[in-house]
Amino acid sequence: MKQMRRFICALLAALMLLSGTALAEASYTAGTYTASANGNNGPVTVEVTFSGTAIESVNVTNHSETAGICDVAMTRIPQAIVNGQTLVVDAVAGATNSSKAILAAVEDCVMQAGGDVEALKVKANDGEAASTETVIINTDVLAIGGGGAGLTAAVRAGQFGVKCVVIEKLAQLGGATAASQGNYAAVDPEKQVPQGIEDSIMLQIQQTYQGGDCKAKLDLVETMAYHALDGVHWLENLGVEFNEQMTTVVGAIWPRTHGAVGKGAAIIEKLKTAAEAYNTDIYMETTATELIVEDGRVVGCKAIGADGTNYEFHASLGVVMCTGGFGKNTEMLKKYNPNIPEGVVSMAHAGATGDGIIMGEAIGANLYGMEYIQMLTTSGAVLTGASIEDVLYINAEGNRFVAEDSRRDMLCNAAFNQTGSVYYVLSDQSLVDRQGNQASVDAAVAEGKVFKADTLEELAGIMGMSAENLTAAVADYNACVESNTPDSFGRYTFNHKLDTAPYYFSTALRPMILYTCGGLEINAAAQVLDAQGRPIPGFYAAGEVAGGLHGSNRLAGNGISEPVIFGQIAVESMMADQ
Ligand code: ADP
Repeated sequence: MKQMRRFICALLAALMLLSGTALAEASYTAGTYTASANGNNGPVTVEVTFSGTAIESVNVTNHSETAGICDVAMTRIPQAIVNGQTLVVDAVAGATNSSKAILAAVEDCVMQAGGDVEALKVKANDGEAASTETVIINTDVLAIGGGGAGLTAAVRAGQFGVKCVVIEKLAQLGGATAASQGNYAAVDPEKQVPQGIEDSIMLQIQQTYQGGDCKAKLDLVETMAYHALDGVHWLENLGVEFNEQMTTVVGAIWPRTHGAVGKGAAIIEKLKTAAEAYNTDIYMETTATELIVEDGRVVGCKAIGADGTNYEFHASLGVVMCTGGFGKNTEMLKKYNPNIPEGVVSMAHAGATGDGIIMGEAIGANLYGMEYIQMLTTSGAVLTGASIEDVLYINAEGNRFVAEDSRRDMLCNAAFNQTGSVYYVLSDQSLVDRQGNQASVDAAVAEGKVFKADTLEELAGIMGMSAENLTAAVADYNACVESNTPDSFGRYTFNHKLDTAPYYFSTALRPMILYTCGGLEINAAAQVLDAQGRPIPGFYAAGEVAGGLHGSNRLAGNGISEPVIFGQIAVESMMADQ
């Protein structure tokens, strides 16, 4: 390996000499150095070992970047630095800040070792012009986007015995689905009845439709509700496990949430494994740029790979657009909803840039509900696991201000009306015990991400809020739990009193952009429609890229059922349409 590196250094030197640039051999004070630089979630620490003339190894020794999203950067960037003896390394798509942090920390180590940072930042001329040839790939089904919907489509295609190709623009699969809590809404009497939960498909339809202010397409809502439980069982057959306990997560408004063990990442893992078992070809870091239409039928797409390779993917059965939403595309957010309050941060993932909507619109697809952009009151998930049961939202004055089991848009609007648009999530030891997450809560307390005190008065003091207000708010709530009657805010979810010390508060939280409800208009067969409401032949859409299911507001739990249900339906329709 060392010999190879020396050979590369020598080769580079020879090339530079040939191109007229003198290259002094790199020189370092041999040894191992460490440095940190800030990534997305905090410092990324590296350890770099130098010989007298080369960077021998780069290891990331500590970081708090998001697992799954940063994985490729953590291995690829160090490797590229060592292999190329360079600091000119492209960031990994979707993990730009993690990549930059590694590069910055290594740069610091180079300086400590007395190396020439500027020389390492000169891009070597590899002399290879990017190929101008287009690589043609033929398949039966093409899924654009490797999140929940795209991988579901791939597995369903495999189950029909047809070939699927998935293209994914980032360096990791999973999109919003992988980053999610993995909460899937489905009426399930087998689990709900023993827990005393009354529910029905009709109630789910009604709540979903009304929860989106009746702006949804009713046939899509019905399709989702009737297929939801089958989707749970379909995932279970692929190895996904769901918790026995059904809960109400923030904005779900009813206890019909199946929480996946291992969250959204586990769902993606099982889908990926199944898709691979069906010999799905997955093209990573390959970005679809435009749809190919022949005689009015969508037959494929053009795409570009990370190395600049041009592709044309041709699909004999159809193309299913699965590119997710546009929560990370500031221009589109502003264009479609200029009323989003200034300064609201988006928690959407890096791939949520609306590409599929733009590509679809360019070939005549109709867009539906684009102005409906969902924000979320992040629930201080370390405390609550995203469940809304047994916690209170408290404002800077120490008062409650909303029914915590409301719709997400109502929670956000209420939060925007509080001082500084902030709120704090309050919980107690009994919830930590029920959730069994003492270790992660303790870690959050140590990191200053959660505050803890033995009494509410003490906790109010730490937070700088009125102890009188806080104790009164908790006493009122506990009285409602005892009598099990709705409180003055209209909250009806009362399971456990909040009365067991120590008490915990999240840091100040603000609503964030989570999800875009609008997109390519589809019908219940997941066919994409044109402006006249006619299906565009060969063109299907599933998941967040599609519009019409949620209306103005998405109920929690429907963001996972949606890609799983409509990803399957898209392929089933494709098969039926032949
Ligand atoms: P859904 O839940 O609807 O499946 P996700 O957000 O889980 O949505 O997945 C969408 C995926 O599509 C993401 O992984 C994203 O990176 C990918 N994607 C977005 N735009 C493109 C594109 N132009 N080409 C290929 N993949 C894309």
